[in-house]
Amino acid sequence: MNHVLEPATSISLVRQEVLGLPAYDPGADPDEVARVSGTGRVIKLSNNESPFGVSPAVAEAMRLRLADGFSRYPDPTGKRLAETIGRTLAVPAGHVVLGNGSENILELLCQAVLDPGDLVTTQAPGFSLHEIFPRMMGARVEKVPVTAGFGFDAGAWRDALAAGPKLVFLANPCNPTGAILTAGELERVVAGTPESALLVLDEAYCEFARPDPEYPDGLAVLRGQDRPWIVLRTFSKAYGLAGIRVGFGVASDAGLVHALNRVRTPYNVNQPAQDAAIAALGDHTHLADTVRRTRLELARITDRLRGAGFRVAPSSANFVFVDTDHGSDWVAKELHRAGIIVKAWREPGYETFIRASLSTPKRTTSSSGA
Ligand SMILES: *Cc1c(COP(=O)(O)O)cnc(C)c1O
Repeated sequence: MNHVLEPATSISLVRQEVLGLPAYDPGADPDEVARVSGTGRVIKLSNNESPFGVSPAVAEAMRLRLADGFSRYPDPTGKRLAETIGRTLAVPAGHVVLGNGSENILELLCQAVLDPGDLVTTQAPGFSLHEIFPRMMGARVEKVPVTAGFGFDAGAWRDALAAGPKLVFLANPCNPTGAILTAGELERVVAGTPESALLVLDEAYCEFARPDPEYPDGLAVLRGQDRPWIVLRTFSKAYGLAGIRVGFGVASDAGLVHALNRVRTPYNVNQPAQDAAIAALGDHTHLADTVRRTRLELARITDRLRGAGFRVAPSSANFVFVDTDHGSDWVAKELHRAGIIVKAWREPGYETFIRASLSTPKRTTSSSGA
């Protein structure tokens, strides 16, 4: 995705905002790394995917769907999934919006809400799509740095929110650090965000953080707030369904869901994805097992890295953010020779950091895709 837009004859058609967009970095191509590694296998730790597979209930739902065939369009409203989510989280199904991954909902929010010149506030280091989608719409993005210890900078956030953003993107746990905002910190963000602004809480990794007593339930904090908000969740991480593309948002009100439904493509979530998500939500054992095993690995890897003298951010997610003391691109390339793919960080101030997904103690499976 790093190629320059060509040929020149087409470039004149492309909007200025698009020409200036940074490309999303999905990490190195596993097929390419398999070729250069010489080990004949690839260990992909670049996309925070689950090494623990899917629930057997998902496998069964996929078998049934296959028997039924693929000739029909999916349910455009995803009502069975929205109702299941509503029941599971005790929210009205009409406040649920479904996405082709939660990334899709980030995109829809920007399309529905942002005018050129609007201000968007998010955190640095952060998730690149929290910047790319706003810029696609011609919005300005202000990134609030974390503290030296990877924590929430209350003063910097207070000032940034006072500047009057229209949209606030905040991930909890944060990607790439894995650090969490406490209930108190989240409440300060909520209190400081202008009531005219939309507060987006991206909880892609919430399942892993939930056992932490300090980690707040974003829905519990935002429910009852008389202001626009949306909490985003995904089936890509703890549920092990990254390849099937399904995520959802729970919004403050049905009006926001209606607006997102207007801008989305009508069949944005395919039927196998809807079926898989419903089945996944019903299997608490598989989720609990994935979280338990991930947290054991988090403790083990963090100890090992710190013991070896590396600075590691305090993660509550399924990845670690590590200062290697060397250029991140160089480190990533060296690891390719061992067949290991990590994500080299490139944000200013973090060019010596890599983000590595947690896996199993001995993972030798090769995989492909983004
Ligand atoms: C992985 C991730 C997502 C969403 O992934 P989808 O696969 O599109 O659901 C969203 N936000 C953050 C911060 C992520 O790391």
